[in-house]
Amino acid sequence: MNEYEAIVQSLSDIDQRIRQDNTGVFTEMLILFDHVLVARTQPYSGYDGYQVGGRDLRYALVNPLSGARNTRRPYYVGNQEANISLADSEVVSMEQAWQWMTAWKAGHAAYRQQLVQQQQAWREAMEAGASDMRAREYERLRMEEEPLPPPPQIWGPVQEKAWQAEVDRGEAAANEVLKDWDSRPRWVTVVLVGNIGPCDGCKARLKVFLYDLSAEMFPKALVMVKAVYTGQEHKPGVRGDTDRLQTEYGYPDRAQQVEYRSATGTVWRPWARIVTPWPVQ
Ligand SMILES: [Zn+2]
Repeated sequence: MNEYEAIVQSLSDIDQRIRQDNTGVFTEMLILFDHVLVARTQPYSGYDGYQVGGRDLRYALVNPLSGARNTRRPYYVGNQEANISLADSEVVSMEQAWQWMTAWKAGHAAYRQQLVQQQQAWREAMEAGASDMRAREYERLRMEEEPLPPPPQIWGPVQEKAWQAEVDRGEAAANEVLKDWDSRPRWVTVVLVGNIGPCDGCKARLKVFLYDLSAEMFPKALVMVKAVYTGQEHKPGVRGDTDRLQTEYGYPDRAQQVEYRSATGTVWRPWARIVTPWPVQ
């Protein structure tokens, strides 16, 4: 599945969830290695952040105990903003995507290491003048198709079979794409798809997420993080019960309206915005 098809699928999942629940705010996250979909999260809704781990989440960006400032948080996001928005679906989407990539990277590194060890054993045997039969045995071992480790499963309720099946297809694609290379993708694209633009807190989280991917997870890849959302390009909102926090959903600058069309003729015109690193000052 390429990026276009994956986004169409996500938009349609989210529509389905809205119909099921009659209302709601949902996001899904797509992970593409070399332009092929390798994993996706399920459509998470608001408050899933609390259910999954609240302040303990990597992208909560608050101190787990006090709720105070966390050093990973950009300077322009206040405590209140971070605390109120930490339950948002975007937080758990980022969390799950990060966990999947971490598990995948570890599994794949172990697999590559095993291959290297095998090749070394073969080389040593050849250099030591192994008998023909022994050398042929090593050659066979070396050439044998080693199964790749199974990519990790995306977290989610087991009853969500439809999405699980999609993840399984993603796994097959991931293995196909990754078969021949040196343990890392060259292009990594992560797309957050939703039916509302990210709030100010989550826009900042996406910048932290982009940093994590480019600097820590895939330092040698070209990394791109995108937000694709239906509804308004941007709209002001007020949240919180007593503290009434002002925020802005979506991007007031440089979002572009784009068209996606499903095979059955459904048309969406969401906004798309590439996430940029946060400013120093
Ligand atoms: Zn948010």
